[in-house]
Amino acid sequence: MISVDEHRATVTELLGTRPAVELPLADCAGLVLAEDVRAQVSLPPFDNSAMDGYAVRSVDVAGATEDTPVELPVSEDIPAGRTDVPALLPGTVDRIMTGAPMPTGADSVVIVERTDGGTGKVRIFASAAPGAHIRRTGEDVAAGTVALTAGTVLGPAQLGLASAVGMDRLAVHAPPKVLVVSTGTELVLPPEPLSHGQIYESNSVMLVAALKALGARVESVRSVADDVERFRAAIEPRLADVDLVVTSGGVSAGAYEVVKDALTGAGVQFSKVAMQPGGPQGCGRWNGVPVVTLPGNPVSVLVSFEAFLRPALLASLGHTGVDRQHVRANLTESLESPKGKRQFRRGYYTHSEGQVTGVVGPRGGPGSHLLAAFTQANCLIVLPEDITGVAEGDEVDVLLL
Ligand code: AMP
Ligand code: MG
Repeated sequence: MISVDEHRATVTELLGTRPAVELPLADCAGLVLAEDVRAQVSLPPFDNSAMDGYAVRSVDVAGATEDTPVELPVSEDIPAGRTDVPALLPGTVDRIMTGAPMPTGADSVVIVERTDGGTGKVRIFASAAPGAHIRRTGEDVAAGTVALTAGTVLGPAQLGLASAVGMDRLAVHAPPKVLVVSTGTELVLPPEPLSHGQIYESNSVMLVAALKALGARVESVRSVADDVERFRAAIEPRLADVDLVVTSGGVSAGAYEVVKDALTGAGVQFSKVAMQPGGPQGCGRWNGVPVVTLPGNPVSVLVSFEAFLRPALLASLGHTGVDRQHVRANLTESLESPKGKRQFRRGYYTHSEGQVTGVVGPRGGPGSHLLAAFTQANCLIVLPEDITGVAEGDEVDVLLL
């Protein structure tokens, strides 16, 4: 048997680091920057008004109050987007809108609320401090400096900044194309009717969703019979098109273990990992393409995804934080755990105001077929290898999903 950590390291090494690729901004959400982004322009690119109002020389409105307004002619109207703004004529003001370029000669903006809003002439009811309501060139980002560093995860703010400094494409770690394969002669796709002895396929649905959530592009073969020749014929021709194959089922100790039978000796290593659920695992290369083979039980699939694929895939995409948040919590009931194996139990974690640690209760038993209980869980309770039981109230490690 190999340890959970060993297998995680092997899968992480297998997936490696994805190469850089240039993608349009719209396709970069959630991905990680592979290169620094330098600002092509300053942000703001020019001095502009922060408010709707009037661009003034502050000396021209010194002493203006509600009772002693200053009246001045309006020379220009400067909406946002005007590109031909002349210098401010002495003894006049310009009407200016938020984001419009400041005319040279003006050193302040009086907000429209402190005026009568006039267009030919305007009465101004307040003085203006020099520099007031002006957004200065480069006060957010200076042209030529690094606006975003390699390794940044591209969320809405980061993508917005990239566009603001002039980028339409970014170098990111390329999302992999993943082929998800469900094996099992018993598998039927809804809404086809089931015969006795058949079940509806669910693993590929979970894996597609989980992989897409991490940024992968995914296709699936949802039902391959437990027949080595048919398995090879269905999958081998597709290998050239994908960066990773993830299979479920057909890797344990019974007969008709199609994945194990087809890929043993073809570059894939099968092992028993000291965990429950999810013991039978495999990984390697098939015709050079990375393959990760998961067991068939639905809960084992999800737990294996959490333990191995999620961290390995995130690392390959350039993420540095690949672990789920861990917390300590007090168990609501006692649990048993197999000696020598790391057990992952589905749980529900709560944390009330004022409590030092939260509380966690199991959802469903340890059985790896109990998928419904998983839908009520928000965490995995992790019981380490050297523990055979924990009592009610004991503190345990919890992975927040
Ligand atoms: P196996 O590892 O192939 O022996 O499968 C273990 C258990 O998981 C069996 O009860 C299978 O019927 C079930 N199973 C395998 N693949 C799937 C799947 N894609 N969807 C739902 N259940 C599955
Ligand atoms: Mg099977």
